[in-house]
Formats: sequence, structure tokens, C-alpha cells
Amino acid sequence: MMKMKEIVLAISAHPDDIEFFAGGTILQFSRAGKDVYFLITTNGCRGSLDPQTDLEELVTTRKGEARAAAEILGVKDVFFLDYEDGFLDRVPHLELRERYIYYLRKLKPNIVLTFDPWNPYEPHSDHRKTALAAFESCYFCHYPLFHPEQNLAKHFVSEVWLFRSPTPNNWVSLTSKDLRVKIKALLKHRSQMQMLVQEVLEQLQAASVDTSILEQMDIKTLVDIFVRQEAENVGKEGKQKYAEAFKVFKLGYVEDVKKILQSL
Ligand SMILES: [Zn+2]
Repeated sequence: MMKMKEIVLAISAHPDDIEFFAGGTILQFSRAGKDVYFLITTNGCRGSLDPQTDLEELVTTRKGEARAAAEILGVKDVFFLDYEDGFLDRVPHLELRERYIYYLRKLKPNIVLTFDPWNPYEPHSDHRKTALAAFESCYFCHYPLFHPEQNLAKHFVSEVWLFRSPTPNNWVSLTSKDLRVKIKALLKHRSQMQMLVQEVLEQLQAASVDTSILEQMDIKTLVDIFVRQEAENVGKEGKQKYAEAFKVFKLGYVEDVKKILQSL
């Protein structure tokens, strides 16, 4: 049976989400010859702890960072929907779903990655909103009477991989090299890594922890420590050294029929 080219689309709310939760997995997908694309829903204009931030400047910076990080992971292209960061709830659900359906039909991914819409502890409304609309779009994009005005052929998504899931069923093991590349990609999101480091230091100080040793370290070392620790924690749950975790859904009858075809 001839194997078709596999295509992956990761749909996120913000420019650095995918690298955090699925950067190593994206790297493995692109290394395996899959065409990988990123679709970023908001413009990331609130990713700063500085109240004086020029929002437009930050949007430009974050787009550049997202492209640089994606390049390190072997991603073919990055698409931006440019909705306002932090206020995605203002966008009608069906408008967002239509936008995702458009990109699914245009790019024709077999695998779609996004947040888990049913994570009850997800505090960010942009993540929740993105997740539900993205998950639904994977179901509706193959019904031709939904948005025929797009003039695009219907498409069937066979797998959805949900990250930040409270009930993962698939752990992707990362080698030390994979983790190094994931960290390298995350460091391309320089504005966000500066924010992350500052945030963690402030959290520790608020908890009366002496941060003087950490304050002497450079951003690269600190990001390495935090991301490695997270990969270890996830890895422990999946009995791996380092890992990323997903709730994977196989949609429709693809797997069953594939088994039958292989036996013919
Ligand atoms: Zn986010």
C-alpha cells in the first residue's frame, strides 16, 4: 500500500505554546519527513510584564521569534490569525471554527495538535477557546455543507493530539538531543523566556525563597533548568527520562480499515 505524505498542523493560542508543550514531538515529526505547519491564533501582544510595553512592537517581535523557533524545529510555515491576545473570548466561537476549518482544508493535515479543551484546570481563556474550536473544526472540516463559500475541498483529519491534557494516553520520549533542540527553539522566544524567568524568580521570592544563586545565572541556563525539569516530570509519568504527553484521538474508522488493507 503506497504511503501518502503525512502532514501535521499544530494550532495554538499564542506564539510560544507549541514549543513549550510539543516542541520535541514537532521536531520528531519533521525529522521523520512529515510536513509540519503552525497556526497561531492570537498576536501575542500581552506577553510582557512591563506595563510600558509597546504592543505593536511586541507583536512584531513575537512573530519573528515564532518563525525563528519554528525553523529550528523544521516547521515548513507559520500562519497567524492575529486575534487580540488575552481577549479571544470576544471572538464568536463559530467564526474561529470557520478560520480553523479553512486552514485544515487548505493544508490537509493528517495529524492536528492543540490544547485539551477538557482540561478543567486550564486557567487561560485563550487556550480553552482555541482548543474547543480547533477540536470541533477537525470534525466539521469534512462536511461539505459547512462553509462551501471557502471553495476548498472537504478534508478528513485522522488524528488529534491534545497537549496540556489531565488524562494523557501517549508519552513521546525525548532524547537529550531532542530536549536540547526544544530548548534552543524556546530560547528563540527571547521576550517570553525573559518573562518566564522573571516570573519564576518573583514566584520564588513571594514564597520567601532566596533566589540570589539563580539571579547570577544567565537566561539560557535558567530556561534549561526549568524546561529540563518539566520534561523529567512528564517523563516520570510515562516511564521515560524526558517526555511530552498527549491525549491522542484517532478519528473515524481509519485505523480499523488500515489494518484490514494491510492483511489483504
Ligand atoms: Zn499560551
